[in-house]
Amino acid sequence: MDAMARAGVDSPIQRCLDDLYAKYAGTRDGAVATYIPELAKADPDWFAICVATTDGYVYEVGDSRQPFTIQSISKPFTYGLALEDRGRDAVLQRIDVEPTGDAFNSISLAPETGRPLNPMINAGAIAATSLVAGHSAEDRLNRIVAVFSLYAGRALTIDGAVYESERSTGHRNRAIGHMLRNFDILTEDPEPALDLYFKQCSVAVDCRDLSVMAATLANAGTNPLTGERAVRHDLVDSMLSVMATCGMYDYAGQWVYWVGMPAKSGVSGGILAVLPGQLGIGVFSPRLDARGNSVRGVAVCRELSREMGLHFLRIPRLSRSALRKTYDLAAISSKRMRTQRERERLDALGHRAVVYELQGDLGFSTVETLIRRIVERSAGLDFAIVDFTRAGDVELSAAAVFLDLLVRFAASGRQLVLANAHGQRRLLRFLEERLTQEQGCRLRTFADVDSALEWCENRLLAGEPSPDARPPQVPLAQHDLCRGLDAAKLLRLEGMLEARSFRAGELIIRRGEPADSIYLLTRGAVSVTLELPNGRHKRLATLSAGMTFGELAVIDRAARGADLRADTVVECYVLPITALDALSETDPRTKITILENLLRHASRTVNRLNDEVAALAE
Ligand code: GLN
Repeated sequence: MDAMARAGVDSPIQRCLDDLYAKYAGTRDGAVATYIPELAKADPDWFAICVATTDGYVYEVGDSRQPFTIQSISKPFTYGLALEDRGRDAVLQRIDVEPTGDAFNSISLAPETGRPLNPMINAGAIAATSLVAGHSAEDRLNRIVAVFSLYAGRALTIDGAVYESERSTGHRNRAIGHMLRNFDILTEDPEPALDLYFKQCSVAVDCRDLSVMAATLANAGTNPLTGERAVRHDLVDSMLSVMATCGMYDYAGQWVYWVGMPAKSGVSGGILAVLPGQLGIGVFSPRLDARGNSVRGVAVCRELSREMGLHFLRIPRLSRSALRKTYDLAAISSKRMRTQRERERLDALGHRAVVYELQGDLGFSTVETLIRRIVERSAGLDFAIVDFTRAGDVELSAAAVFLDLLVRFAASGRQLVLANAHGQRRLLRFLEERLTQEQGCRLRTFADVDSALEWCENRLLAGEPSPDARPPQVPLAQHDLCRGLDAAKLLRLEGMLEARSFRAGELIIRRGEPADSIYLLTRGAVSVTLELPNGRHKRLATLSAGMTFGELAVIDRAARGADLRADTVVECYVLPITALDALSETDPRTKITILENLLRHASRTVNRLNDEVAALAE
């Protein structure tokens, strides 16, 4: 097959694999295994490299769909099945987890007990196969093939010719089987266990399968393509451990040194490597080195690991703090417009409410830093808002730290609230379950930071005597827009206005409508919202009685730029733009006063927004 025929999307990863393929396709070192006669029929030039990611994308180059027998790469998967069937203790009693430094077919059992040193050499693998549960030989085989198929994400079958070939020549493995029987590691006639082992080694796979099987391990046992679970996730680390220490036989030390990934090789020329949490690699090329590992396979894995920085012991560059930014309410306020007096009080009190904006995945150590920062500051704090907008996964160990902080905050009469945390289902479930047992502490969550800020502002303002914080109705004479108008001018203006009222929830202005009037809000609250491309609504501002809305589009002579909706029962006066225009002729002084008032309001808003932009840019 054309080497490039399978090349996928044009990405740096694909190009890297294509380059590696081109670089090593000419390598002719090593020799195809012949001790199983059927394997000698392999084309020594077959070559494929595949990488499968834990989110289910497979990169392939070369003969990635050429079938070959899985051979020893079957060993970790059968070991996982034995662990699942018998439990860790029973399996460890019969098979140790010490690397041997010997060849795959070494007849090495612990001298006293006869226990094979690990499940990756033939002795340990045959013992592991004998531990697979089933009510008949056929049943056991079916279970093994079914599990391998789950890892690969497709129905695998046995290559009968290779099986026959190994069955009729596998005298060394028979010797191992009888030794195991001698030490009672195998408790019955070794022949059925050997037969099962030969069959498991003869399961046909291709290089793509290897990468998907590896990605399934990398993905904690769930196949990332099919979503099906192949092994219990808590057993995967045991499987990967023996692969890391013993998977490459007597090359294991150098493998960890140069490649640094749990891996397994087989005499048919396959190598499978796993980068936990990230990806699975499959390489196939039948020419083997003296240790029985694919020559090109080892070279490709070494280079791939170096190029892409895949070594599992590579210390990640210290991840940036989980804390993206912190700011207080004095720096950034909610979109609820405040009267000048409220604004001044919030400026004075704003330092008592702090937003902690998280980023990335949160493990124990990242959350620990965050908690320390909150605790250090907590003496002067009434409210902490933890913003999850940019947070990734929260590990359970981190969730426990959050719980502790919530409880401690509540105990000292303060509040820690969560914003935009609805995606954190596991964390929320954990906190809700535990908090019901804690007296006097409830979980408070907000859809976004804006609504959390508003809630904190309201609490801060409510804590102070505020006779005019939210008057139920603002008489026209006290309305912002009417500042500086004497009684006569006010009366004339009132004659130009139309009183209107709205129910809570009613749409007052729709985005896109022609703008033909200015609204003077005298009772209730109105929110300005914008529909985002994702269908959600973002609040731009909330206005209360005494404020004006709809003026921008009118001054601009443009269409309405946003939706305005009544949050409560709303009363307002509507000033038609035609009336405002007419004032130019009939009463220019009144018009100037009104425009000055609008300008003052606009300049305050712009100043406030500038301060926020500066605070966010820090
Ligand atoms: N079936 C082979 C054997 O037991 C497997 C060996 C291997 O792939 N290293 O000899």
